[in-house]
Amino acid sequence: MNKEKCIGCGACVSVCPDVFEMSDDGKSEVKKKECDLDCCKEAKDVCPVDAISLD
Ligand code: SF4
Repeated sequence: MNKEKCIGCGACVSVCPDVFEMSDDGKSEVKKKECDLDCCKEAKDVCPVDAISLD
């Protein structure tokens, strides 16, 4: 996930709270290193600035 790009909209946290959370700097943060849940792909799709990459 690209913190530079993130605008802190919270969309990824809404669709995938087990993996993403908002951090103190107002941007989202990845809680789990492994993203093996379906919602990871969903989070990538909803991110308006394409800040999430799955690898
Ligand atoms: S959906 Fe994208 S822009 Fe919005 S908080 Fe998550 S990473 Fe940041």
